[in-house]
Amino acid sequence: MSRKKGQEKIFEIKWKTDLPYRYSIGKLAVKFFEELKENKKIMGSKCSKCGKVNSPPRAVCGDCMVEMTIDDMVELSPKGTLEGFTVVNYPFTDPNTGGMRPFPYGYALFKLDGADTYTMHFINETDHTKLKVGQRVEAVFKEEREGNIGDIMYYKVIKEEKKI
Ligand SMILES: [Zn+2]
Repeated sequence: MSRKKGQEKIFEIKWKTDLPYRYSIGKLAVKFFEELKENKKIMGSKCSKCGKVNSPPRAVCGDCMVEMTIDDMVELSPKGTLEGFTVVNYPFTDPNTGGMRPFPYGYALFKLDGADTYTMHFINETDHTKLKVGQRVEAVFKEEREGNIGDIMYYKVIKEEKKI
């Protein structure tokens, strides 16, 4: 830190602290996780004005700012189309567990059937030469679900042509 001549030194104390917090995820997200846990359903939200289907659901349409409710939620297919991907080959701390995340692992961007927006999640393929944009993918759910995004373990590539 630089100081001008005559300026007093600022008294500082440095420390690190944990800041545990809780926040409301909103009614649509609650419904999203309930449907995931109880019925293995992936829900989106459809704007009543423009018809855009958001996945995951959003409380407000990003295009026309219309507020959406639980009544605007629609079930999406667990299948979708791969739009982008990466394979991670370096270690880092997993914020969900606090431990090191096993690697390599695949991470993908895809559009679920019935959705107009993109979703990101793990994909079980770690050989990037076997992944191609346009491939079909399908969600693989945990048997014992807890009501969080980990209930979808990953998406897997399936042999199926894109539905039109
Ligand atoms: Zn809209």
